[in-house]
Amino acid sequence: MTDTDLLVVGGGIAGISTAYGLAAHARVVLLEAERDLPVHSTARSAATYIPGHGTGPFRTLIAASGPRYAALPAELGTPPLLSPRPVLHVADDDASAETLQAMLDEQTGEPGAPVPLDPAEALRRVPILRTAPQLAAWTSGSADVDTAALHDGYRRGLRARGGVVHRDARVTAITRDGDGWVVTTATGARFTAAAVVDAAGAWADEVAALAGIPGAGLTVYRRTIAACPVEPSLLRTGEGPDDPLPMVIDAAERWYLKAEADTVLVSPADETPQPPGDARPDELDVALALDRVRAATTLPLRSVRTAWAGLRTFAPDRAPVLGERPEHPGFWFVAGQGGSGIESAPGLATLAAARILGADAPADVDLDPDVCSVTRFTGSV
Ligand SMILES: Cc1cc2nc3c(=O)[nH]c(=O)nc-3n(C[C@H](O)[C@H](O)[C@H](O)COP(=O)(O)OP(=O)(O)OC[C@H]3O[C@@H](n4cnc5c(N)ncnc54)[C@H](O)[C@@H]3O)c2cc1C
Repeated sequence: MTDTDLLVVGGGIAGISTAYGLAAHARVVLLEAERDLPVHSTARSAATYIPGHGTGPFRTLIAASGPRYAALPAELGTPPLLSPRPVLHVADDDASAETLQAMLDEQTGEPGAPVPLDPAEALRRVPILRTAPQLAAWTSGSADVDTAALHDGYRRGLRARGGVVHRDARVTAITRDGDGWVVTTATGARFTAAAVVDAAGAWADEVAALAGIPGAGLTVYRRTIAACPVEPSLLRTGEGPDDPLPMVIDAAERWYLKAEADTVLVSPADETPQPPGDARPDELDVALALDRVRAATTLPLRSVRTAWAGLRTFAPDRAPVLGERPEHPGFWFVAGQGGSGIESAPGLATLAAARILGADAPADVDLDPDVCSVTRFTGSV
């Protein structure tokens, strides 16, 4: 039996970053089901940081993560974590132009928000588009994220603060023990802790159920990415020779693309509900991605080098879930990161650690607890 202050379940970006924040003030043990980490959503993302992405609470967390991303390399001893890459948002019909305009209107004045871009200028900056879009917008503060370095930096930082990570430690039982908890893993190891932090991504509601606690009403969706080889000269911008091709996102969320050296990542922006598990790409989704990107661009996508799928897990309102149920104190949810778990991680981890430790959160991440509460859909139980 190992005794600790805080047990974090899940070793993806949510668990490792929150554990790192907590370990500055408490004894922390992190339990991860898999032998390697990260292997699930955190290892399968498009690895982008896009200010203005997602619902209001995520936009706040993403904005608050920007300065933290800049500071983390010195703090954690990582290489630079962000490499600038602008995003071009394109709308090619009336419906998607309406969607894009609504996004621009909603975000006017927010830090890093996308701004309208003349369609002819959009075509000049991204010459692989077949035609100038009907409406275009530009996000200049976006970047590629070195997700592996970020995760590894947090893991090493956690260890340096005395935190312990157990792999191959699938949590199978969680029971009340006085004011705290007893947590058992599949190998029979047992831990006691004053509080449990459920950062199990797609499995967060299942982990809560192990403790007999109602979940957060999460829905898990599969998303697919295919990597296609492309002649690198086609992935130039028309700007400076070293400028990366902007990421291009269809405002109607039918596709997006992002260049990587001699490869272009394409996605049909699919959202297929599925149970938590090891997500696999569906051939149809891969074919859809290629078809849609071929229709919108002149890129000759002839083959697929590799394809993968991962899970994006959302609360019904697509805001994060951070909190404990009043009837079950000491069981914290840090879940529902959807399509923003990487870009929002430094901000969300700071906020989560402050809330769990009962400390004041910095003003820039101090979201209204009700906005993220676990009871906002399911109520108290
Ligand atoms: C195709 C795709 C593209 C994406 N692109 C982006 C992007 O560009 N930018 C961005 O910010 N986000 C993006 N995302 C979203 C991002 O990847 C997720 O929000 C984020 O990785 C979620 O992290 P997590 O730690 O919650 O989940 P995970 O990384 O899945 O980690 C959860 C962990 O919990 C463990 N676990 C589960 N049950 C147990 C148990 N019983 N005991 C112990 N451990 C357990 C699992 O093994 C897993 O390792 C994308 C996602 C996908 C799928």
